[in-house]
Amino acid sequence: MTPEERRAELAEGLAAVRARIAAACAAAGREEREITLIAVTKTFPASDVRLLAGLGLTEVGENRDQEARPKAADCADLPLTWHFVGRLQTNKARAVAGYADVVHSVDRPRLVRAAVGRADRAGRTLRCLVQVSLDETERREGRGGAAPEDAPALADEIAAAAGLELGGVMAVAPLNGDPLPAFARLADTAAEIRRNHPGAPIVSAGMSGDLEQAIACGATHLRIGTALLGGRRAIVR
Ligand SMILES: *Cc1c(COP(=O)(O)O)cnc(C)c1O
Repeated sequence: MTPEERRAELAEGLAAVRARIAAACAAAGREEREITLIAVTKTFPASDVRLLAGLGLTEVGENRDQEARPKAADCADLPLTWHFVGRLQTNKARAVAGYADVVHSVDRPRLVRAAVGRADRAGRTLRCLVQVSLDETERREGRGGAAPEDAPALADEIAAAAGLELGGVMAVAPLNGDPLPAFARLADTAAEIRRNHPGAPIVSAGMSGDLEQAIACGATHLRIGTALLGGRRAIVR
């Protein structure tokens, strides 16, 4: 595929996603400008990030440090905001803090302290979201996310940490079942956290398969991969 063909394909994906966002906002009585679209570019090459930037996207999401770091370096000349959305190991938190602007996946205090170790980012603060698990307790293992009842304390800890800024909450819909009641529970947790932290408005929810339900439940940030970029395959360099 030529770069021109790929550009056309991405433009088509973007138009389709924007149309879905517009329809979902209309159905929910919300404004499109309340929604931030993050292109999740994992497994896709830096050239796709560049094409998406050319189409006007400014928010990019990645889920693996090994892949995100070189891609962010490749695209350092572009005016992009980098979102780290994947599971974060404590030993990677410092590295991620080096290029990420927003980390969506803070789900335990140790992670916060590891990131604080790297908090000297030339005066920039690292925005952190509390990842909240929407899975049933027995299915939580390995999927990431703090229990909803633990999320407010974790939010307090982020807000109190030097160099970190509490942005809000993030969640992934449960593997099976209806995303709507799960996203509604996330909205409750987000509201509870906002009572103590009114400056933390982000609700990161909604992927290619469930962006409508997320918008209905108040999501402010969508993390969209497949619907924008196509099915994931190995990176060919
Ligand atoms: C891959 C990924 C997405 C995007 O998923 P799609 O279904 O391809 O839109 C969103 N959030 C996280 C945390 C991801 O890992």
